[in-house]
Amino acid sequence: MMNREAESLVRSWKSSGLITDKRVLNAILNVDRRIFVLPEYINEAYEDVALPFLRGQTISQPYTVAFMSQALRVFEGAKIFEVGAGSGYHAAVLSFLAGEKGRVFTIEIDPFIARRARDNLKRAGIKNVVVLEGDGSRGYKEEAPFDRVIFTAAPSTVAEEIISQLNEEGIVVAPLRRGVLGEMMVRIIKRKKKLIKENLGWFRFVPLRHSP
Ligand code: SAH
Repeated sequence: MMNREAESLVRSWKSSGLITDKRVLNAILNVDRRIFVLPEYINEAYEDVALPFLRGQTISQPYTVAFMSQALRVFEGAKIFEVGAGSGYHAAVLSFLAGEKGRVFTIEIDPFIARRARDNLKRAGIKNVVVLEGDGSRGYKEEAPFDRVIFTAAPSTVAEEIISQLNEEGIVVAPLRRGVLGEMMVRIIKRKKKLIKENLGWFRFVPLRHSP
C-alpha cells in the first residue's frame, strides 16, 4: 500500500525533523490507516489528528503513533505487549516494525472494541497480532516476558507487574497522567536491575481503566 496522503504526512514529519526513524516512517507508509478508522472518517484517515472511535474512545493521531513507536525502539523479532487495542492500528504499525518473527499481544478491556480490532487486523491481512480481552493495567502473565510494553491509554503509574514481565533491556513507553497538565510520555528501560526513566514530552490521552 502506498497512498499519496500517507506519503505527504511522512514527508512533512521528515522535513520538520519530528520523526527521524526511517523504519517507523516506512511502517506508517505500509499500514493503511483507512482500514482502521470508522467508515465515516475514512477521508480524515491521514489528517494528523486524533479521531473519535467506538464508545467514546479515540484513536491517537498518526504523529503520536509514530512518536511512541520510535520511542519504543522496536527491533525485528520483538515480542510486544500493547495496553489498549482500540482500532488495532497502532498494533498493526508495531507488528510491521517487529516483522514476521515478531509478535504483538494487544489487550482491550471492552469486548465490543476488541472484536472490532480483530476484524480490522484481519481485513488488513495482519497475522502476527493477537487481540486479548481484559484489563491490561498489570500486564499479562500468560504471555510474559515481553521485550516492549506500550500503553495507549494513560495510567497514573506503571505497575510493578509490568516491570517484572519485562526482559532485560526491555522498554516501556507510557503516557502518565499528570492531572490538569495532561499526560507526560515516559520511556523506562530495564537495565541490570535498574530502571532508567526519561520524560519525552506532553500529550493528551484517554485514561486507563483500573489504573494502578
Ligand atoms: N491503540 C489504539 C487506541 C487506543 S484508545 C489504536 O491504535 O486505535 C485506548 C483503548 O484502551 C480504548 O479502546 C479503551 O477501551 C482501552 N482500555 C482502557 N483501559 C484499559 C485496560 N485497563 N486494559 C485494556 N484496555 C483498556
